[in-house]
Amino acid sequence: MNNLNRRVVVIGGGVAGITAAIALADAGMLVELIEKRPFLGGRASSSLDKHTHELVDECQHGTMHCCTNLSQLLDRLGVLDKIDYHRTIEFLDSEGNRSAIHGSRLPAPLHTAPSFLRFKSLGIRDKIGIARAMLLMLISPSSAEFESLSIDDWFKRTGQTERAIKRFWRPILVSACNEELHRISCYHGFKILRDGFLLNSEGYQFGVPSVPLGALYTEPTITALQQNSGVVRTKTTVESIQFDDEDRRVLGVILVNGEQIPADYIVCALQSDLLWKILPESIRESYAYFKMVEHIEFSPICGVHLWFDRAVDCPPALALLDCQTEWVFNKTKNFKTANVTSTYLSTVVSASRMLSSRTKEEILEETIRDLQAALPSMKGATLLRWQVVRWPKATFSPIPGVEGMRPVQKSPIKNLYIAGEWTQTGWPSTMESAARSGYLAAEALLIDKGSPKKLLAADSKPGRLAHLLDGHRRLGKHV
Ligand SMILES: Cc1cc2nc3c(=O)[nH]c(=O)nc-3n(C[C@H](O)[C@H](O)[C@H](O)COP(=O)(O)OP(=O)(O)OC[C@H]3O[C@@H](n4cnc5c(N)ncnc54)[C@H](O)[C@@H]3O)c2cc1C
Repeated sequence: MNNLNRRVVVIGGGVAGITAAIALADAGMLVELIEKRPFLGGRASSSLDKHTHELVDECQHGTMHCCTNLSQLLDRLGVLDKIDYHRTIEFLDSEGNRSAIHGSRLPAPLHTAPSFLRFKSLGIRDKIGIARAMLLMLISPSSAEFESLSIDDWFKRTGQTERAIKRFWRPILVSACNEELHRISCYHGFKILRDGFLLNSEGYQFGVPSVPLGALYTEPTITALQQNSGVVRTKTTVESIQFDDEDRRVLGVILVNGEQIPADYIVCALQSDLLWKILPESIRESYAYFKMVEHIEFSPICGVHLWFDRAVDCPPALALLDCQTEWVFNKTKNFKTANVTSTYLSTVVSASRMLSSRTKEEILEETIRDLQAALPSMKGATLLRWQVVRWPKATFSPIPGVEGMRPVQKSPIKNLYIAGEWTQTGWPSTMESAARSGYLAAEALLIDKGSPKKLLAADSKPGRLAHLLDGHRRLGKHV
């Protein structure tokens, strides 16, 4: 193929940018992927620890088996086997009750029912209410109201008990959607629960990387792009997108060092506020498509990394109920570290607004208190080093009404495409949403180029019983 009309600049080497870049390079385009930071993966990446020179994740990331587009990307990068899918999700409450959700031989949506019935942190009334709500999520007709109603209000309507909300709905949904329940639309809440727990008996399996995120994405992407004559430029920042005199087409990008890179097409895969920054005012003001972007809200996440001097008994991933720390991950176990004489734990607090005014030392102290209560083997362990990582704009907020603000990937500018987990994908802010946005942007570009290609992976196939109950899908609609 000659070089005519093939040059694509992808701005941003997060999961969305990586996905678009790889898909377009595989489709024969000449791709240049530009990333500000030294590693690829964006918010799902790592940085080098100043003292040990090891890669430390910005924050622990997990995925689910139902995330088919992320799996497709990781498979293409040759690193899908670096995700360990756990068939059991463990929970621990403040009374020391340990429970697990796992599959069984029953078909979806009943596959986790036996483990749910044994869930020690909930009583029978809580469980009946939860089961009823799950069934309603599966069979209720799709409704525009679900986009404007918060899941919290829906839980009140369906008579969920306080304990069910505190010990079941909140731990699952706040961590999956990174928002408080009153700021999660039913649309997003239902999406997670239907795709993850109801439609397919494997969807709930929790995937945890066995390597640092920087290693998962950086070298494999560089190698895959180079195989198709693509280029990755890390530590390179785009200052602005260059438009023609009439603001009808993009011509290329200008880097902060003044260098100009011409392009036939641009895929911009930045967070919504950063896209806003690199667009000229004339574009921002002229198009409702871009104006809307300014109104997308964000939600924070706080993670803590802790290294202890001895082996601490902790499963690969444990959800903590009744305390500030929501999840603890045993990274020593997850990274399959040999000769264990120390332990590396990583904790996560989603929608962590309450921590924004605390000092890092205070957050550390509270985290250790939660861990000491949950993990008796931590007694006597000495903390060797620690890091508190705060992301004020970790994800977009899946608030009621947000779907109306998320733009499609084809922009009103002829040869400019927008990717990023916050664009219209139907998913909350996840790596899956980012991968979907990358494929959708690449699909839109290839249509415009006259060489259309289906790139988006199919959703997991629903089980037969789930499919039967799932009225929407039979009507061809998707919640
Ligand atoms: C703390 C935290 C925990 C999370 N946990 C999970 C989880 O467990 N599971 C999950 O699925 N999702 C999780 N997420 C969400 C997930 O990380 C994001 O939804 C996803 O990674 C977004 O990918 P993206 O490519 O759309 O954007 P980004 O990852 O933000 O990628 C944009 C890229 O553009 C680069 N960039 C910015 N400006 C410029 C510029 N001017 N020039 C060049 N490059 C630029 C950035 O450095 C970045 O690499 C978490 C997010 C955070 C922050």
